[in-house]
Amino acid sequence: MALEIIESCVNCWACQPLCPNDAIMAANPPEFPHFLIVADKCTECLGDYAEAQCASICPIEGAILNELGEALNPPGSLTGIPPARWAAAQAEIAAR
Ligand code: SF4
Ligand code: SF4
Repeated sequence: MALEIIESCVNCWACQPLCPNDAIMAANPPEFPHFLIVADKCTECLGDYAEAQCASICPIEGAILNELGEALNPPGSLTGIPPARWAAAQAEIAAR
């Protein structure tokens, strides 16, 4: 049972000090270019906090996944922009 940080992480450091298990490793390019969660240290914060501390502060939608590969902060959850509206805006910009 562990969360995963993926490549969209922007290495902002916000999550790392909050982890109760010291499970988050800072990026160390070129070996690993973004922050990582050490799976055997991560408890998903169970027993310590009501919600995963890393995901609760992460500013990037989709950067932290659960074991099912689902984003803890899915598209639109932080920006408030509905995913369909975001996609439409991106398509409009790309067409310029
Ligand atoms: S879910 Fe909790 S224990 Fe796991 S990496 Fe995030 S802050 Fe650490
Ligand atoms: S808070 Fe999110 S973006 Fe920042 S280092 Fe952690 S996982 Fe990466």
